[in-house]
Amino acid sequence: MIKKIFAGIFLLAVVFLVGNEIDKRLSAQTIQEIADGPKILVLNYHQVNNNFSPLAVPVTAFADQMHYLVESGYVSITPSELADGLAGEITLPEKPVLITFDDGYIDNYTNAFPILKAQGLRATIFVIPSSIGSGNYMSWENLKEMEKNGITIQSHTMHHAKLEELPDDEIRKELLDSKNLLEEQLGHTVEFLAYPTGTYNLHIAGIAHDVGYKAAFTVKYGNVDLGSNMYALERVPIFQTESTMKNFFERVEYRQSFEEFGWIKK
Ligand SMILES: [Zn+2]
Repeated sequence: MIKKIFAGIFLLAVVFLVGNEIDKRLSAQTIQEIADGPKILVLNYHQVNNNFSPLAVPVTAFADQMHYLVESGYVSITPSELADGLAGEITLPEKPVLITFDDGYIDNYTNAFPILKAQGLRATIFVIPSSIGSGNYMSWENLKEMEKNGITIQSHTMHHAKLEELPDDEIRKELLDSKNLLEEQLGHTVEFLAYPTGTYNLHIAGIAHDVGYKAAFTVKYGNVDLGSNMYALERVPIFQTESTMKNFFERVEYRQSFEEFGWIKK
């Protein structure tokens, strides 16, 4: 009996140690794959205007930033290209950037759109369907015109509610109603989501997956790579600061120094 118990313990110990070794080897391989894989800079803007709001980047600073991206060899991509690139289905450009805006403010159309168009840059705007056409927000016509010129419209939920405070059926409704309405109005599939205020958890991410989103963006700081969770994708937020342009350089360069020193997120 005692022999059997010892044999059992020995066997468990062997299984544990071997398992651990395999885990270590696998993770070393994974780390190498992540290091060698694509790194995608995802910028997150809200407003582009000269109102000195914390959410706003001044118009000239935004123009300088877009110019900097083009001059530095960044190539703007769509969220579908990001997903396909990470899945290995397409080859991404060497320096991919996904330029995103949250909420759908009118200045995205009046101020940012002409600059993006002039620089030949593509961008993605996560809109709140219940706000479209009201107050400070863009109209359906604005969105449709931009979609003909390199801008992709995706979902930021129906009402910008605090998802973590809602019961499951309402979370599902926020995610699905916005997706359905945008698809109906814009005539293309809506498969990408930005969580309102960037807040998410694994449970909300699971619902996003279940209702048909391919990926979702947070405001977790960092670049997207093969180690990223597709339902918790990193972004680099760009806000108004004392020196927005200096701050922008630092944020973009900081991302690169992460890579140089082999930084990974897991
Ligand atoms: Zn928002």
